[in-house]
Order: sequence, then structure tokens, then C-alpha cells
Amino acid sequence: MIRYGQQHITQADIDAVTAVLNSTNLTQGSAGIAFEQAVLAETGARHAFAVNSATSALHIACLALELGPGDWLWTTPNTFVASANCALYCGASVDFVDIDPKTYNLCPVELEKKLIKAERAGRLPKIVIPVHFSGQPCDMAAIAALAEKYGFKVIEDASHAIGGRYKGEPIGNGRYSDITVFSFHPVKIVTTGEGGMALTNDDTLATRMSLYRSHGITRDPQLMTHEMDGPWYYQQVALGYNYRMTDIQAALGASQMTRLHGYVERRHEIARRYDALLADLPLTTPWQSPDSYSAFHLYVIRLNLEQIAPITHKEVFEELRARNIMVNLHYIPVHTQPYYQKMGFDWGDHPESEQYYREAISIPMHPSLTSDEQDFVVASLRAALQQ
Ligand SMILES: *Cc1c(COP(=O)(O)O)cnc(C)c1O
Repeated sequence: MIRYGQQHITQADIDAVTAVLNSTNLTQGSAGIAFEQAVLAETGARHAFAVNSATSALHIACLALELGPGDWLWTTPNTFVASANCALYCGASVDFVDIDPKTYNLCPVELEKKLIKAERAGRLPKIVIPVHFSGQPCDMAAIAALAEKYGFKVIEDASHAIGGRYKGEPIGNGRYSDITVFSFHPVKIVTTGEGGMALTNDDTLATRMSLYRSHGITRDPQLMTHEMDGPWYYQQVALGYNYRMTDIQAALGASQMTRLHGYVERRHEIARRYDALLADLPLTTPWQSPDSYSAFHLYVIRLNLEQIAPITHKEVFEELRARNIMVNLHYIPVHTQPYYQKMGFDWGDHPESEQYYREAISIPMHPSLTSDEQDFVVASLRAALQQ
């Protein structure tokens, strides 16, 4: 079986995890701090909070930005449901901005149009979450300029994008946003089994996120309402959660981080090879913006439906699965999910995302994919398109 994405684990990873298991701290020890330091060193951000998932990281990011009832959060329909659900956890409302047909990222032109209307209606968003789809950064300069003009905050959902760069600088450095979130789910660029991280350069947001990560509890005398009762003392000053990452996971993450650049380079090699091998087929390969160095979490092809008729998108997908190639589809437009339809969203709301969904297939892309496997994927795709 060839999967669309999967983790790559080395003996060094296993040794790092074993060392934690043989130590006294399984959680909240030195491994968590070392992992956060490794991500800070990679990105150049000031503060990092390792948590048990990117979903949790999105939640504490929204809480830190004081999202609540009556507020709006906007994101892209072409994402995993977690990018939108975080607003609902806070009692806020969600809306969507359609994608750019070339990058499949949230489109800044659509964003501006929607902001102009929202301003008139008095319904401007408090937070916008651009998602660096497939690892390719969004047009962050344009989004940041709109954030400045319309007064919203920006959380980058960089779940696909650690190791990527925008205008030559690492994703996660916070130049164009308030908070950046990474995911370390096994299919992502580096993994901790389950895990995520929230990064910021803002000291106030950092303090809040550290509280929300762990029950709203602090041991920092400066955050307390009065002097400590004694050395045992802590205070709960907010309503937080238990979103902590274990040291077992963090040790795996820190070990994986040492290979981040190699992973992303290998993904680029695979992408270049696909680009060349697929060039004559009736499909579109991933377009890359000149501002972007993608982390290439995904390699998405779009079928040219008119050219391949009467063969359908579903038939191509099924033929690849029948050959044990575990292709996938990222993403079903979030606004078409039944849960979101119940809020009034429907098919037709975001035509670019919907058209994309009718044509897209994520074909295998991960660092341990061999050239032979890649050739088999290409040959299978060629056969599926010529049935
Ligand atoms: C994977 C993913 C998430 C959620 O990550 P978890 O770590 O599984 O919670 C959120 N947003 C996007 C875009 C993702 O791909």
C-alpha cells in the first residue's frame, strides 16, 4: 500500500523517546522546552507553546485574542474543519472566504470584497485564519495590509507548512500575523504522534496562551492577585484547559526537527519529479507562487474533467485506490459539511472551493516515498485517465 502521507521514524527518534521513558518526567520536563526551543530556533519567533494538537493550539490562540460571543471569525472553506471549529468553541460565529484558483489558498481579493460589505453591515471579523494549504504560504503581505486597514487579528494555520518560507523568511516568524499554529499529526511534515504548537511575538498573547494551555493556573507571582501564601502556592486566574503535550511526544518532535530541512528538500524533489512525469496528462500540477517556498505537505493534482470525459473524477480516484494507492481529497469545502449547512451555509456559496473539490486528488507525497513507488503512482494515474 502506498499512502498519501505518512510519518518517517528513525532509531534516533526511538532513542529520544526511550530516554524520556527512562527519566523522571513524562510531562512538563525538559523535553517540552527543548522542542519549543527547536521550533523557535527554526522560525525566529519569540514564544512557543507545545500543546496536544493543532486544534488545541487554534483554540488557545482564539481565546488569547479574546474571541467570544458576538464576534466573527473568517477562514477558508478549503481546510480541515478544525480551522473553523475553533471559533465555535469560543461561542463566536464563522464565515468563509473563497479560494484563489491557482494556489487554493484564501484569496485576498475575495477577502477585501467581503470586508467592504461587512464594514457596511457592521459585521467585520475579529480574526481571520488563512491556511497555508499544502504547505504553500498564503499572500500574507496582502492579508496583513487588510488586517491593518480593517482592524482584525490574524492566526496563520500553518499545520501544513513548518519548514516552508514566505518571501525568503520562515513561516512562523510572525511578521504578518499575531499567532501561528503548527500541527504534528503523523501525516504532517514532522510528528509527535498527536501534537501542535502556537507561536507568537507578543508577550501578552504569550502569557494568555500559557494560562489557557494549563487550566488557567499560574505559578508566576507577577500574575497573582496577592502575595504567594507559600512555596506550594499557585493561582487559577482564568478558565483554561489541559492541552499540555507530554515529554514523550516532545522528545519525538525535537528529534524530528533535526531532519526538518532534509524532509522539505526531499518533498521538493518528489514534487519536481511529479511535475515532469505528469506534464503531458490532462491535469493541473501544483502552481507555486514566486514568493513561496512550500513545505509540500500535499501534492494535489486537478483533473481536467472535460478532457477526460466520460471518465469521472470519482472513477480515477477509485481506480487508484483499487491499485492500493491511498490517494485522498483535501478538502471537502467546510461550509458544505452538514454541521455547517445547519447554520445556513450551502453549496454555491464558494464556487472556486467547490469546483476545486470536484477535480482535486492528493497523490502520495512523503519523504520515504521511493522513485519506484512514484513511478507506479504515475503509471496508474496514466492508466486510470485512459480507460
Ligand atoms: C491537521 C490540521 C489541523 C488539525 O491538526 P491536529 O493536530 O490534528 O489537531 C488543523 N488545520 C489544518 C489545516 C490541518 O491540516
